[in-house]
Amino acid sequence: MSEGSEIVLSYDEAAAVVRDHAEQVRGQPRPVERVALFAAAERVLAGAVKGDRDQPPFARAMRDGFACRAVDLQAGWLRVRGQLRAGEAWAGGAIGPGEAVEVMTGAAVPAGADCVVMVEHVSVAEGRMRLAGPRELAAGENVVPAGAEARGGDVVVPAGRRLGVTEIGAAAACGAAEVEVWARPRAAILATGDELVEVGEKPLVHQIRNSNSYSLAAQVHAAGGEPVMFPVVPDDARATERAIAEAAVCELVLLTGGVSMGKFDYVEQALTALGAQFFFTGAKIQPGKPVAFGKLRETYFFGLPGNPISTMVTFALFAAPLLRAMGGEDDAGPRFVLARVEEEVRVKAGLTRFLPARIESDVRGARVRRIAWQGSGDLAAAARANAFVVAPETAEGLAAGELASVLLL
Ligand code: AMP
Ligand code: MG
Repeated sequence: MSEGSEIVLSYDEAAAVVRDHAEQVRGQPRPVERVALFAAAERVLAGAVKGDRDQPPFARAMRDGFACRAVDLQAGWLRVRGQLRAGEAWAGGAIGPGEAVEVMTGAAVPAGADCVVMVEHVSVAEGRMRLAGPRELAAGENVVPAGAEARGGDVVVPAGRRLGVTEIGAAAACGAAEVEVWARPRAAILATGDELVEVGEKPLVHQIRNSNSYSLAAQVHAAGGEPVMFPVVPDDARATERAIAEAAVCELVLLTGGVSMGKFDYVEQALTALGAQFFFTGAKIQPGKPVAFGKLRETYFFGLPGNPISTMVTFALFAAPLLRAMGGEDDAGPRFVLARVEEEVRVKAGLTRFLPARIESDVRGARVRRIAWQGSGDLAAAARANAFVVAPETAEGLAAGELASVLLL
């Protein structure tokens, strides 16, 4: 594309553009699939899971102990009327004054009783029990009232949630043996470059392996999409046009390489020839400055710079949030966390930098350390990293001990 039509944005501006489009695509209707809950982990819920009954469905004992009326406990000995396990129905009628029932955790507290005294806190003798020491119990202690967690018919997991561990557990408790999830959006992966050979082939000394298609496929999958691999596109204007036109049957087209100012970078030119609309053609970031985002008729595309780490970072920053939104996810990212900087990082101001880093965490929090690299082609350094530490556009780096934002993949 000609220099006059370049649209180069700051990181924040570019992220806001993607966010706006993500909002638009999230609202659009998508096909729904019914899947077994067992196979639904990491899918995005299309139909809310509602409680099929109150939760808990009965007043639930939270401890092993004795169910009784809290006011009776100061009076001394209470008569133990029987024992009640989890899963057992009490047939003995309401608990009256001066009475108790031995209950196990998970049992349905009989009517009349309003608390459970922990077994550790009582003395038991000859069919009676009392508090073992000075202790006060309020009504409601160690009992979860029926319906306190959720009412029958309440939304327990809303549509748009990605089904993680907690959501799956909650859906199972609601009896949702099957759930409705959104179909995964299909993302075409097109690597460009005359130097590229497939991973299974033996490259000549001046050739390199097409690693980006693989890392992108992994990222697409992690973002809830279905990667669709296309053959490598040679550095040729017509071939690039043809390949893009073919790939545009997918909802998202991801191109890598060929978006810089080199003589044989044809991606933007081909997109322009096909009538594409560009929302930006660059961002003030490093790595990944030549990243392009736009739409070719109904299909969104990203032109991701070919250097492997640039591809990863620009996907995580811009493509992943759009793809997650296409998959119906309500919390589309990107994912940042704060971590304490272990060693000073010095860079020039003017670009927002995303530097390969290792983040480690324990119960006190997270620490981050930059990984030395040979620039944005250094996949070996990327493999030693597990995240990217952010050096803001306005600063000359990060001081040891400061809290920095860290991009997670
Ligand atoms: P480009 O963005 O096409 O100028 O490529 C920048 C650098 O990334 C060059 O060193 C390319 O060889 C390399 N590169 C481009 N595409 C890929 C790919 N699919 N896999 C690995 N490296 C690539
Ligand atoms: Mg290239």
